[in-house]
Order: sequence, then structure tokens, then C-alpha cells
Amino acid sequence: MKRIFCSFFAFIVICLSSSASAAYTDIIRVGLAYGSTAKAVATIKSQSGFKLGSMNGLTFNSTTTTNETTLNITYANGIYNVTNSSGESIYTGENVATEAISGTTNFDGYNYYGAFGFNAESSGKLTVINYANIENYIKGVLPYEMSASWPIEALKAQAVCARSFVLGNLNKHKSYGFDVCNTTNCQVYHGTERADVNSDSAVDQTKGQILMYDGKLAVGYFFSSSGGATESNENVWGGTPIPYLRGVVDIYEDASASSKNVWSVTLTAEQIADKLKSAGYSIGQVADVKVTKRTEMDNVNQVTVTDTTGKSVVIENDDVRTVFGLNSIRYTINGDNSSNNNNSSSNGSTANAVYVNGSGVTDGSFYAIGADGSKAYIGSVNGKTVLTGSGTQKISLATTKTISSDSYVFSGTGWGHSVGMSQYGARSMANMGFTYTDILQFYFTGVTISQM
Ligand SMILES: [Zn+2]
Repeated sequence: MKRIFCSFFAFIVICLSSSASAAYTDIIRVGLAYGSTAKAVATIKSQSGFKLGSMNGLTFNSTTTTNETTLNITYANGIYNVTNSSGESIYTGENVATEAISGTTNFDGYNYYGAFGFNAESSGKLTVINYANIENYIKGVLPYEMSASWPIEALKAQAVCARSFVLGNLNKHKSYGFDVCNTTNCQVYHGTERADVNSDSAVDQTKGQILMYDGKLAVGYFFSSSGGATESNENVWGGTPIPYLRGVVDIYEDASASSKNVWSVTLTAEQIADKLKSAGYSIGQVADVKVTKRTEMDNVNQVTVTDTTGKSVVIENDDVRTVFGLNSIRYTINGDNSSNNNNSSSNGSTANAVYVNGSGVTDGSFYAIGADGSKAYIGSVNGKTVLTGSGTQKISLATTKTISSDSYVFSGTGWGHSVGMSQYGARSMANMGFTYTDILQFYFTGVTISQM
């Protein structure tokens, strides 16, 4: 009886451990040098000396050790050569990997836990890869993505985001033999350089935790500031709507918490033409620039630029930010928010009024047509220019005012791509007493937090 029980128990343990480890890798391959930054000579240092060997998949196999504290790795004619600081060869092989005997390996001025792999590129130079345990990796990312002085619940939310982001981006740099690079292209990572008790604690307190939606990993996208509302993925990056990446009205973020999240950029007609041409668009002398479509979240989704010949260029999705070099997709042009007037309930302080705060807009210059065909003319209410529509019916502009100006003022709030978690919003929520789970479930629709 006892024997049966033990077998049964062992079976359970094996099943649990195999299912837990099979789901997601706990080793992240981080490219520290590759392509234009690949090394003719890769120099690594360790106070403790090195184990030398090779990688078998994600596992480092040590075949020998050395007390040398500085190693130089080069490649020629199919053979990797490891020399000491005196230039003496101490190891050669058809492949090579290293690991500090204890502690970290120093490479290019930063210290990293985990093994190092070196792969010759076609140039003969070396791709340098750090095989980092995911928890050490997140500790090396967190203080670069969010200030370690921010509240712990915001840091914990960021840790879960970063973990879920990297697991959603494995093999991003597959052609170079690693998962993620160590720059903003993926996530900034410099090993132990900015290790901090707060950020390390946030990683430890959320160890192995990831975002899940409908039983699958949810990729933890994040950005600096929403400025008032996040955005659904398809309105930024195009493609298929992802259910957990829905835009939310950000009732928590305090845009004034950072001056960089409230911004204004003035571009001349000539600068706008130059930016469009740089982005591959064909346009003549710019005569008009206006927002022609907003999302349900009131973010800019389409901008139309018209030149003096009447030719128009339509810019959509994230291009409305990147083509003009703006900080976010949440802005007005010359104070003109009028394109939102097809949604009478989201813009304006009363259900039956729509603000059109364009400079130079005069009484009677617009009228709106209600669903029943009735017209509502523009007027002034409480010092603000409004269209008084009929009830809550949708109204649309019958005429639009063309702003003729040599320069265009883009005024906005927010910073970044607007998809997923607002970091400033996370900070505000943490300051209000919300937990990291509250924060993540606010910004990622319908997610749960699970062990990887
Ligand atoms: Zn990258």
C-alpha cells in the first residue's frame, strides 16, 4: 500500500515538473554583439577564472577550466581560438562557450551572469551571446525600462511585462542565433550594471510570473505614457485585433507627473513635406494638414495632408506619430479636434454638444446634420465653440474649415506607441494603492497572471 502511494506521488511530481518546464524556456539568449558590432576579438574577464566548453542547445557543457582572468576569443578557418592576456593559446575547437567559475563574466564593460557563446559570422567576426537565466535577465532589464525608485507595485507590473515580452519575442534575432538584442530594439539589458534592491526585489516577488490570456502567453507590450487613453493594437500596428491589447481610457495616469508627457511640436509646411518624402510619400507644397480619423479612444488614426495642387496623402496607424516624429498618437493639429465630431458622446462636456476648438473658427462657419437631416449651426457656449446637435444622435460635419498656415502646431499628451501598459499609469496606480495585478489587468484586457 505504501509503495503504491509513493509511486503515485512520484508520478504526480514528475508530471508537474515536466509540464512546468516544458512550457517556457528559462534561458534567454541575448545578443550583446552582432552584425555591425560583432567582434574580431571578443574579450571577456572574470575574477574567478573560466570554465571552457561548448553549448548544447541552451545548456553549457564544461570540458576544462582555466585560472586566467582575461580571455580573448578569435575565429579563423573554422576554428575558434582562446588566448590568455599574454597571447598564448589555451583552448581551440570547432565551437567554444565559456562561463565564469563563479559570479559574473565581464564583457564590454558590463557584468553578466550565465554562459557566453561565440558564433562566427560570415565576416569572420564574432556574435557574442549571453545565455541568461530569465530572472537574471529581467533583473538586468528592469532598471533600464523603469526607474528603480518608482513604487514597488509598478516595478512588479513592469517585471511581469518584461518577462512576458521576452517570452513573446524568442527567436526575434534567429538569423544571428539568439533571441533578443540588448538595445531598445528589444529590451535594454546590461547585466548587473544598474542592479538595485528595489528592482531586484520586484523581480524576486514576481518570480516566473507571466501574463496569460485564454491559456496562452500574452505578450507584455508597454510604453511610457498614454496621455489619456491606450490604443488597440490594430489601430497602431495594423493586423488582427489581439483581444488583450484593447485600448482603455486611462483614468489613472497623471500626464502632468512628467513634463515630457505633455508636448507641442511646430512644423513648417516645408518640414512636413520633407518628413513625408523621407517616409516615401510623394507630395508637393503643403497646403493643409488635418486629422481625418480618430479611434474610439480619441487617439489619432489618420492624418490627411493636401498640397497646393489638391493632391492628398493619407497617413494611418502608427505612421501618424512616426512620420512626423511626434511623441504619441494623441494630439490635435492647430488645436483642431473637429474630425472627432462623428462621435457626439466622447468629445465635449455634454451629450449633445461637440467641441471644435479650432483657432479662427467663427459662428456659422460649420453646421452639423443630424440623423433626421436637421441642421445644427455652430455657436458659442461658455466661451467654447460648439455644435449643438439634436440629443445624442450622431452628427457629422457638412463643411470643414481649411486651415491655411505656413506652420502647423501638433499639441499632444503621452509618449510612446500606446499599446499595452502605460508605465506612468502604472506608477499612478501604484501610488493610489493598486497592486501589480490590478495594474496589469487594467492595461491588458482579460489577462490572468500565471507561473511560466
Ligand atoms: Zn532586438
